[in-house]
Amino acid sequence: MSPRTAGLTALWLGLGSVAGVACLRLPGLLTAPQVRGLYAVPVVRGVLVATLVATVALALWSLARGERKRPFAALLAAAVAGTLGGPGAPVGAATAGVGWLTLDWLAIDGLLLALVVAPLERKRPRVAARGRRAEWKTDLRYFVMNHLTLHAVTALSTTAAGLTVFGLGLTHLHGVVDRWPIVLQLLAIALVADGVQYALHRAMHEVPWLWRVHAVHHSSRHMDALAGSRVHVIETLLTRVGVALPLFVLGFPFETVLLYGGLMVIQSTLLHANIDLRYGGLERWLVSARYHHWHHSSEDAAIDTNYAAVFPFIDRLFGTHHLPADAAWPTRYGVVKEDVPEGLWAQQLFPLRSGSRG
Ligand SMILES: [Zn+2]
Ligand SMILES: [Zn+2]
Repeated sequence: MSPRTAGLTALWLGLGSVAGVACLRLPGLLTAPQVRGLYAVPVVRGVLVATLVATVALALWSLARGERKRPFAALLAAAVAGTLGGPGAPVGAATAGVGWLTLDWLAIDGLLLALVVAPLERKRPRVAARGRRAEWKTDLRYFVMNHLTLHAVTALSTTAAGLTVFGLGLTHLHGVVDRWPIVLQLLAIALVADGVQYALHRAMHEVPWLWRVHAVHHSSRHMDALAGSRVHVIETLLTRVGVALPLFVLGFPFETVLLYGGLMVIQSTLLHANIDLRYGGLERWLVSARYHHWHHSSEDAAIDTNYAAVFPFIDRLFGTHHLPADAAWPTRYGVVKEDVPEGLWAQQLFPLRSGSRG
């Protein structure tokens, strides 16, 4: 590990530690109610001891080898975490707040990104990085925004779907699928969800105004795990409500739907990541990174293809399948016709601006 990487890792670990201590103190405000019950507090405290020790050790090592800004900032973060009580901080009341800013999810997935995904992208890259790619700060802002609003967006979309389904009395099928084994439930959810996702995704490519919303996701010219975070908030809400509706009509248990959501977080990270992953024969049955990279390609033959996120057979069924057999990857990414601006806020306003071209 280079002193620069050590300094950067120390900084992420330090910030993660501050987030962890803040979540212990204010769980009602900063943690996702859906997963709060899964935490074992002694494990959280143990992880905090490990992250703080690693922060200080890496920062000091990096300082001793001439790095300055990042290790100093990391030590400052560790000091803040310590001042707030460190691993021994008292656990606050979970009732004070409704988890509107899910800092726990940002800390957990941020650490996974920094400690697992980013090192894999450096060690086994599909395309070797030449320095830092353009617009990485924009995508990091998306990552932070998406993670902090996990509960707000989930609550909004499941409430909208729930009110529709129960309001219209569409509950005749309830009481059937919840008796199935969980693996069968997950498979059924994946089939229904990917079918709806296919239809919505295709509509976003074919309806002019929806395309301006979705063009934001396609505007990144570089593919990596962070680039997948770039999604317009309208697209997130539309997809979540659209997928939740049939799942609620069919009466799947909410816990299994959430578990499927968790699996899709992993799938989405893999699909966009710049990791040289080989799927072999599995590529025919499961959407791979190469499959979704072709969806993001700006090469003519790949435009408007590969909409599925889990099952390639859906694209084969509707004639939108494009996967060169010679294990080739695309060389160009991005949008062809739209002029999507740079920056998170400009991109969020982009589909709402009058005079945008369709
Ligand atoms: Zn698309
Ligand atoms: Zn994508």
